[in-house]
Amino acid sequence: MGKVTGFLEFQRLNEVAEAPEARKKHYREFVAHLSDAEAKQQGARCMDCGIPFCTSGCPVNNIIPDFNDLVFREDWQQAIATLHSTNNFPEFTGRICPAPCEEACTLRINDTAVGIKSIEHAIIDKAWQEGWVKPQPAALKTGKKVAVIGSGPAGLAAAQQLVRVGHAVTVFEKNDRVGGLLRYGIPDFKMEKSHIDRRIEQMRAEGVEFRVNHAVGPAPVGAGNAAAKVVAPTQLMQDFDAVVLAGGAEVPRDLPVPGRELQGVHYAMDFLPLQNRRVAGDTKVPEQWATDQHVVVIGGGDTGSDCVGTSNRHGAASVTQFELMPMPAQADANPVWPYWPQRLRTSSSHEEGAKRDWAVATKRLEGEGGKVKKLVAARVEWKDGKMQEVPGSEFSMPADLVLLAMGFVSPVQSMLDAFGVEKDTRGNARASTEGDASYLTNVPKVFAAGDMRRGQSLVVWAIREGRQCARAVDEFLMGSSTLPR
Ligand SMILES: Cc1cc2nc3c(=O)[nH]c(=O)nc-3n(C[C@H](O)[C@H](O)[C@H](O)COP(=O)(O)OP(=O)(O)OC[C@H]3O[C@@H](n4cnc5c(N)ncnc54)[C@H](O)[C@@H]3O)c2cc1C
Ligand code: SF4
Repeated sequence: MGKVTGFLEFQRLNEVAEAPEARKKHYREFVAHLSDAEAKQQGARCMDCGIPFCTSGCPVNNIIPDFNDLVFREDWQQAIATLHSTNNFPEFTGRICPAPCEEACTLRINDTAVGIKSIEHAIIDKAWQEGWVKPQPAALKTGKKVAVIGSGPAGLAAAQQLVRVGHAVTVFEKNDRVGGLLRYGIPDFKMEKSHIDRRIEQMRAEGVEFRVNHAVGPAPVGAGNAAAKVVAPTQLMQDFDAVVLAGGAEVPRDLPVPGRELQGVHYAMDFLPLQNRRVAGDTKVPEQWATDQHVVVIGGGDTGSDCVGTSNRHGAASVTQFELMPMPAQADANPVWPYWPQRLRTSSSHEEGAKRDWAVATKRLEGEGGKVKKLVAARVEWKDGKMQEVPGSEFSMPADLVLLAMGFVSPVQSMLDAFGVEKDTRGNARASTEGDASYLTNVPKVFAAGDMRRGQSLVVWAIREGRQCARAVDEFLMGSSTLPR
């Protein structure tokens, strides 16, 4: 514990963000990491609890009290070594993790949590800046070959762990660039893509081979790249000693209401990646814009919030976001400490301007000349877990662009079917995380991790699953493993 009285002396510091009106004019990140001195002071607030609930609140079990203390003592190199011992990609989580660790911080019981995520952000940015993040190639090669399908955070974490213990790892990605939803879901203003590129360079130097534009399974595979070369699962089963399925959960939830077929009604993931492509400098990106449109985003989660931020940057005439569930309580208390509480959360995109409304169900969409013009909705209430329309509450509003952001139902089934992988009741790859054969599917030598196994989730969970899956694969190939669980 760096400073015994730190939690009494110092306040939580929030990272400084550019003002909404200014940041809406560009797509760059707008949150600055803490200075060294600020991070040191924030680290001093950590009480180094006997039982660090923050560590169990963090899905990768970051050793938070240790790196807080190391930052307080200005031993930044040891701090990044500690952080990297549990998390391959803190530059991703330090930017976009919802920080369940902070909900679990003991200080939160009667004060504000330690700014754990901001300390993580400061450590990794400093480490890259100082040149401390270097490739870690394996000293010995095992001669074993592993195919990883999908280059999102789960696939990348698995690939990096496996290459570092000497396996020859090839990542197959159907898109034209590596990164999964980090690349083509999460907007640049939340996380610039240079962070992925830098990691990929490190991983290439460690020996990972990336094959982009390679879709595994029967064509066509999911959303995306029609030009991708199709790779047969049977070929991978012949050529590799183990296969990791990390293809994400790409099937979006639909809105089966009259008018769904009208032009101007799109899944969020048919809208958001286009802007990421423009920022990346791609030409010939389809002209789908929110500019001067009345935009209605249906769905209140991260994806919906990203649609709000992107629409505002396009210069939408208005942005409204509807959520089916009732508005959570405003109160800042955490009645379920150390667990994740349901509470009203306002994202940076909401701060930039959007009308938010809760307990609203869309009834139909109406159009002119085949193009959506109006959304008709009604208020709902929930009784005994059942949704009921409030009589007489129907209303309508202008809608030129309707973005469906109601989450993802499952992975693309055809890829799992092509491997003969059993699924759970939600259509995810069935593989337990417990016991000797963790992450192994019913098909010998085929493992599954990330959203493809657990369903739609978070980047930090994908990293955890990729890491743990790598250990399971290593044990399977070698009989034992030095990789962390
Ligand atoms: C818009 C949006 C915003 C989000 N924001 C956040 C956030 O702020 N914070 C957070 O923690 N989480 C966020 N999430 C969730 C998070 O991005 C995912 O949980 C995470 O990326 C899952 O990682 P993954 O590696 O399992 O899958 P993915 O990231 O989905 O990667 C899967 C990859 O596999 C590839 N693939 C699929 N099938 C094949 C195939 N047959 N052949 C070859 N390649 C294939 C795909 O092209 C993709 O690149 C967001 C999700 C979305 C959609
Ligand atoms: S990865 Fe997320 S939960 Fe874990 S310490 Fe970082 S911000 Fe907290």
